[in-house]
Formats: sequence, structure tokens, C-alpha cells
Amino acid sequence: MHVSRRILLASSVAAAAATVPATARAEERRHATLDRDPFTLGVASGDPAEDGVVLWTRLATDPLAEDGMGGMPDAVIDVAWEVASDERFRHRVAAGREQARPDRGHSIHIELTGLDPNTEYHYRFKVGHWLSPNGRTRTAPARDSMPEQLRMSFASCSQYEHGYFTAYRHIADSAPDLILHLGDYQYEYKKGMYLSADGNVRDHEGPETVSLANYRQRHAQYKTDPDLQAAHAVAPWLVVWDDHEVENNWAGEVPEETSETPNREDFLARRAAAFQAYWENMPLRRSSVPEGIDMQLYRRVEWGRLARFHMLDTRQYRDDQACGDGWHSECPDVHDESRSITGGAQEDWLIDGFHSSRARWDLLGQQVFFAQRDSDIGPVKRTSTDAWDGYTASRDRIVQGWVDAEVRNPVVLTGDVHTHWACELLADFDDPDSKRVGVELVTTSISSGGDGVDSVPEDNQALQANRHIKFRNAQRGWVQTTITPEQIDVDFQVVPFVTEQDAPAYTRRSYTVADGDRTLHQTYDRPVERSVITESTDPFAGSDENADDTVR
Ligand code: FE
Ligand code: CA
Repeated sequence: MHVSRRILLASSVAAAAATVPATARAEERRHATLDRDPFTLGVASGDPAEDGVVLWTRLATDPLAEDGMGGMPDAVIDVAWEVASDERFRHRVAAGREQARPDRGHSIHIELTGLDPNTEYHYRFKVGHWLSPNGRTRTAPARDSMPEQLRMSFASCSQYEHGYFTAYRHIADSAPDLILHLGDYQYEYKKGMYLSADGNVRDHEGPETVSLANYRQRHAQYKTDPDLQAAHAVAPWLVVWDDHEVENNWAGEVPEETSETPNREDFLARRAAAFQAYWENMPLRRSSVPEGIDMQLYRRVEWGRLARFHMLDTRQYRDDQACGDGWHSECPDVHDESRSITGGAQEDWLIDGFHSSRARWDLLGQQVFFAQRDSDIGPVKRTSTDAWDGYTASRDRIVQGWVDAEVRNPVVLTGDVHTHWACELLADFDDPDSKRVGVELVTTSISSGGDGVDSVPEDNQALQANRHIKFRNAQRGWVQTTITPEQIDVDFQVVPFVTEQDAPAYTRRSYTVADGDRTLHQTYDRPVERSVITESTDPFAGSDENADDTVR
């Protein structure tokens, strides 16, 4: 596959060169001295609108360079880009040039406008005689249209050391219209600090990420992964971070308890560095360019009148976790009305967005578990203070917001916990028969946690103590959805292993959520072929917050 692609790229160089204006050619020669391919990090697109999308690449001839500069000279590099309606670039619809600047890690963000709605496009970049891989992207449907369907996949938690990103490869092969990444795109640890139960299969480069150079180097290492590159090149992404893009379980301006940067000023500098590198390495709009310690990541994306995506940031503005983080049965602070996981401004923005929505489906793309999860099967309630359970008043206000706004179909999309879950959201989680107010779909990790297991004996008890939770699986994978005006079809996708390459993928469980119904209807269950139960495991452990605590 790689060989044929190289040949295709080589043959298209001549065609592209012929169309570059003469005035640009002299400048291009000046930079043709890059004697190695600068397109080692692939290409990406993101944040589609009805008239455009963001195109991304970042130049790096030596991606793992310790200084984070990817082997690039300390100079501005001219990059040509083009967009075509066909994959052979015969019908060019837009082209231009952009400067890759060292103070932006030689990243390129092209915010396209003037494209047709609901249309597939192809794009590529060129520096000197080097041509990037081709990317495929698409614009969102026209605002007033009702698209027949949207094929959207979502993923989270890709720990490079824990396994191969085979699930990303399968996402690429399924060529969805849109891909959401809900956080833990990369991990901050130095090599071997976070061990998977199955043993790490490859190593992080560099120290625990603290400085801008560290974060740039780590992002570059992740972006060299061919499976991740394939997933970026196949469709536009909507990304939001969780904690590990900065530091495990950071909260607002408060670092983790065992932080490398325990001092507040040091942590804020670290946060700013992490934000800068995140922006540089993601297909985000100018509106997300960081300013000091702040970065505007929460935003909305419309898919015609079919879907409205509210992409949330539950890290940057949250109050510190109650009771020092972890799982607690006695922690009155989790119910404190004054505590928030979104911050007041984002909460107002979100509730305004419910009221102004004309969408059939309102999807909340966000980080941490939304539904109540009681890990005690007896009368005691024991919950995680890092999740929405640690901010119950905040959760209640948002649910009341969508109930008051009469949101037709609220769907919460979640990552973080390295396990698949399917939940119905209740008006009162302590009353299993209370009104259904929405559904939550939680994706497992791409690789974090290693191979994982299909189920553990305690699962059934755990689900009995949480009757609104219908499904749990602790293998690796992603969730794919097909969204139509009538229903959402949900497939929980699994790869049976990540410690070796080339795992197959299969659907483990499927549900349908009908328009206006807010309940999960199981439509498929794959019989479990092998017994994967090797030890008694707390089904609520293995969650990101717990796993990471144990490595320290
Ligand atoms: Fe994670
Ligand atoms: Ca996390």
C-alpha cells in the first residue's frame, strides 16, 4: 500500500509544479534545500463548516528531535497548498501559500472558506519538491438542510506505549464523514512510567512533558504513527483534550497532587506550553489560538439540521476535584452548588446553545463520565470525584438546561475511562425508574490499558447497582455511529489485541436510539468466543484516573 502511494505521489509532483505561479517559483527554490521529507507528520483537517474546513500539517524532517523543532531550521518556510474536488487533483478548487513559522512549530492551519456544503474535497501541501500525503475531507451540510445521514466515529485515549493504534487504522478503513477525539490524544509520561498490564510495546521519547519543547516532541512522536496518520487523512476531526494532553487529572489552575510542577506558577507555564503545542498539532481554527494560559476549545459545529455538536472543555475551568480526587463514598463537597466542572461562562454558553438549537440531535462531545456510576453494590454510594459525579450540581444544571429548552434528543459522548459503556441518563439517578432524559455513549480507549478483557465476573453486579447502565466492555476500540433523522445506530467496535499489530476489528454490541425515545434498544450482541477472565478485577478500576494513580 505504501509503495503504490509513493508512486502516485511522485507522478503528481509534475502536475502540481506546472500550476504554481512563476513568481512563487524563485521563492520555492530558496527552500528546496530541505534535503529530507518534511511531511513526516501527515496531514489533517478539522472543524468543518458549511463553507469550509481547516487544513493542517506540520513540517518536521527529524520528528523526534529533542528540542521539539522537528529538525527544521529556525526560519520561515513557504508551503503551497491545494484543494481539489477529485483525488487525482485534476479539478482544483482552491490553492494558496502559507508561511510555516518556527514560533508555531512550523505548523500550518488553512481556514478555508467559499467551498460548497456537504461536499468531499481532497488536499495536499508542497514545500520545494516535497509533496505531502493526500488528505480527504468534507464540508458540513448547509445549515437549513436535513441530511439523510452522518457517519460519525469517536475515539479517546491513545497511549503510544500501551499498544498499536490499530483501531485508528480501522477507523480510517471505514472512512466516516466525521471523527471526534474526546481526549487523552497523547500522554505526558516519560518512557515506562505508565505501564500497561500487558507490558508496554514501545517507548515514549523524551522526559515527562513539561516544556514547550517536550510537548512538541511528544506530539510529533504520536503523529509519526502511520495508523493515526491514516485516520487524520480520511475525514475531518473535532478534537477536545482531556487531562493527559497537559498532566494527569489537572483541574483549572491546579496541578495533579504528585505533579512535576507543584508550584502554581510552574504549573501555569506548563499548561500554557501544553496548550500551545496542542494548538500547533491539531486542525483547529484561529479562534482557538492560545493566549497565555487560556485557550478557547469549547465550540459548536453544525451538521445541517441533523446534528449540533457542543464540544466541551471540562478541564480548563473546573474547580479542583473534591476530596483529593479518586473514589469516595463520603464526600459532601461533590454536591456543593458552587462547584462547577464547566465554569460559569461555558455553562451559560451550553444552555444558550440548547435553547437556540434547531437540530434533530444535540451531541455533547466531552471528556469524563456523565452518568452516575456507583461502584458499591450495597447501600453505600461510591463515586469518582474526577467525573461529573464529583460535580453533581453542575450536572443537574446542565440536564435541567436541556430539559427546559426541550432539546429533542440529547446524546452525551464520552471518553476517559478506557472501557465501553452505554447508559440511559435519568432525571434522578437514585431512582432507576425515573424519567429518561437522554443517553450517554462512552468509548473505550484506542490503546490505553493494553489488550484488555471482554468482561469480568463483577460486571453483572456492577450493572445491577447502576440499572441505567446497559453495557460495559474493557477491550480496546472505538464507537461508530450512523445518525439519521429517524435514529442513531451505535456500534461498539472492538479490537481483540493491541500488543501486536494488525488486529482485526468487530462489532461487540449495537444499539439503536430512536428519535424522541432516549432509551437504548439492543440490536446486536456478539457471543464472546474466548474466556478472557484471568483475575478478579474491580470493574470500576482500569478507569484512567485509577490506572494513572497506580503508576506513580
Ligand atoms: Fe486516558
Ligand atoms: Ca483522562
